[in-house]
Amino acid sequence: MKAEIIAVGSELLTPDRIDTNSLFLTAQLNRLGIEVVRKTIVGDEPNSLQREFRAALELADVIIASGGLGPTEDDITREALAAVLQRPLVQDDEILKDIEAKFQRFGRVMPQINAKQALVPVGATVLPNPRGTAPGLWVEDGKRIVILMPGPPSELEPMFIQQVTPRIEARATGARLFERALRVTGMGESAVDQAIAPIYKGYRDVQTTLLHVPGEIQVYLRLWSVDQAAAENRLEEIVERMRLALGESLFTTKGEEMEQVVARELTWHGATIAVAESCTGGMLGERLTHQPGSSAFFLGGVISYGNELKSGWLDVPKELIDTKGAVSAEAAQAMAASVRRRSGATLGLSITGIAGPTGGTEEKPVGTVHIALADSQGVQEKMFRFPGDRGRIRGQATVAALDMVRRYYLHQSTRNAQ
Ligand code: AMP
Ligand code: MG
Repeated sequence: MKAEIIAVGSELLTPDRIDTNSLFLTAQLNRLGIEVVRKTIVGDEPNSLQREFRAALELADVIIASGGLGPTEDDITREALAAVLQRPLVQDDEILKDIEAKFQRFGRVMPQINAKQALVPVGATVLPNPRGTAPGLWVEDGKRIVILMPGPPSELEPMFIQQVTPRIEARATGARLFERALRVTGMGESAVDQAIAPIYKGYRDVQTTLLHVPGEIQVYLRLWSVDQAAAENRLEEIVERMRLALGESLFTTKGEEMEQVVARELTWHGATIAVAESCTGGMLGERLTHQPGSSAFFLGGVISYGNELKSGWLDVPKELIDTKGAVSAEAAQAMAASVRRRSGATLGLSITGIAGPTGGTEEKPVGTVHIALADSQGVQEKMFRFPGDRGRIRGQATVAALDMVRRYYLHQSTRNAQ
């Protein structure tokens, strides 16, 4: 089954309000084995909404509209659907009595405009709303189901779980969504696509989506199936082929964050780490500490943003900064070695670079970043030229530094195996 979600409300087309109902509904529908194939946001305007209902009826088996069931002039969802399905609206006395009773409980008389909320397209099923006045409506048109729900999440969510879920479960085919999330770093989006396209093109039933975030490419594989074992096997097969194609740039097939992978390696090796950060201003320390349990491997670090701290606290010789610059391979190496020695950590990791937008030169343009990793044997260093603005450069530098630790252990285990 395929679904479309229509969020109704002119406020959702302004910069101040966001449609969150569709996120909740998508999660719930996916759990029920229903794929959401389109989401739309429509203002409180009868013609637009009717047009959207018509389009949705062409496309989806289940259509869920949220919002626009209130008592006021701009609440037009039930009227628009009745017009599209050519069903007259009739008053449901039960609903009317229920709404009147709700007002009475608060010592008020029902305003006449609320009577509109008791109107129901002929043949619709009423979904009670214990949290508000507007009931939901379940309307079947041939094989299609249209569900109208109130806009406030506090009313929509319990109504969906209590009233809609059991009705859909009774209908659904039982297909469920199976997913894998691969994450790749150190390769561009087109390089990743070139490597895996020949694979995913052979699996028409598996939806493959590439997503670019600073420092990494995420590959989502999604498969709908009624057969759990068959689906898992098929995903495993494609993941294994992609693993070969992507090589060591692939850092997880389970959707893990880079810092989780690094934390696991450090813990496994009983190692500790300390960081020296310049242009990332603490982002590396933040990423290494945002998961619980990080005190097992993370000793701390120095944010040596100014050159005084680079030489004063991290023993980067002043002459080195004067001759090579604070953004240089030598400075990065000295920072990593020094923070390691001073902290007593197994590894010292450093970042120094030019995040911009100013400070770039021809020789060292904005985006130039040096990253170094020190162990008891020495220091390895790598230079990067990251594209994008300040935020993206800093994000990419952080991921690349963590990745240097991950690759360090990757190569250590291959060295040990030889
Ligand atoms: P309505 O049912 O159209 O009267 O909507 C009432 C209120 O529900 C709106 O003012 C919003 O605060 C909220 N609301 C409506 N639609 C959504 C949506 N798609 N996501 C989140 N909140 C919504
Ligand atoms: Mg509204």
